[in-house]
Amino acid sequence: MQSQKQFKRRFSFEFFPPKTDKGRDKLQVVRDRLAEVRPDFFSVTYGAGGSTRDRTIDTVLSLHQQGISTAPHLSCVGSSKDSLAELLNLYRDKGINRIVALRGDLPSGMGAAGELRYANDLVRFIREHSGDTFNIEVAAYPEFHPQARNAEEDLKNFARKVEAGANSAITQYFFNIDSYFYFIDRLEKMNVTIPVVPGIMPIVNYANLVRFSEMCGAEIPRWIRKQLEAYGDDSESIRQFGEDMLSEMCRKLLDAGAPGLHFYTLNQAEPSFNIWNNLNLGDRNKIAF
Ligand code: FAD
Repeated sequence: MQSQKQFKRRFSFEFFPPKTDKGRDKLQVVRDRLAEVRPDFFSVTYGAGGSTRDRTIDTVLSLHQQGISTAPHLSCVGSSKDSLAELLNLYRDKGINRIVALRGDLPSGMGAAGELRYANDLVRFIREHSGDTFNIEVAAYPEFHPQARNAEEDLKNFARKVEAGANSAITQYFFNIDSYFYFIDRLEKMNVTIPVVPGIMPIVNYANLVRFSEMCGAEIPRWIRKQLEAYGDDSESIRQFGEDMLSEMCRKLLDAGAPGLHFYTLNQAEPSFNIWNNLNLGDRNKIAF
């Protein structure tokens, strides 16, 4: 973990672009609440193949114009270089300076793969097209990507994104803290040293968490599964357990030198906000870097 300690901590909150007016109004309230903790940036997801293109742009620009730096996610799968370049130009012209660059996952049966195959191709393309305009974030998988040929190949593929010009990374969520420490140690041995910020998934709905974790390859340890199962429909106990467990995990990560936290908010303020408060990070000036 030594290499991560040199980086300044940064904190960020991720949203998805709302589909309805009601969702937009709700996000405004969530955004105001989370802005109180003065995060370094917000980020907004992008549907693979451009399925949320306009909604992502609208959400990014509306958040950005309200005073907190906002990073659009951009995925290359199913997109042409021309359409990606158009988006990069738009973001540059609007003063956006950070992009989360991803491959994305096309729903089965939806169109062709596109001109860029992997996230490292997208990172290279962004650098070729936009130079140093953007700080480029990429995805990292402490428990390895579900489609990776094997763990070693996945580490090499992560290094490819860094070689192509990525500045920092955000991890897939995980509940096995040792997987993150191991991942960082392996990167250190490969001389790959960029900030790798843990992605934190608040627990609000057990069934959704199980379904999503199976898709993205995040393991829910047995003791957590058993505890959550025991609560059944008692959503208040699930929420409380999730907040306590994740606050403890975040504390251990930060104490060990993790360079910040990125919250997958699911467009809800309270779960992330409560974890934040439990960490006593309220006054950002008091954080010891
Ligand atoms: P890559 O880094 O390209 O890796 C994908 C797979 O290909 C891995 O198995 C890797 O080992 C392999 N691979 C990579 N490069 C090569 C190569 N050169 N040769 C051979 N194999 C290679 N998805 C969305 O659709 N929209 C979002 O907004 C979004 N946001 C996300 C944010 C974060 C922080 C994270 C962690 C994930 C996000 N995702 C999002 C999900 C992501 O798109 C999927 O996990 C996707 O399957 C992989 O994307 P990637 O950028 O990690 O791909």
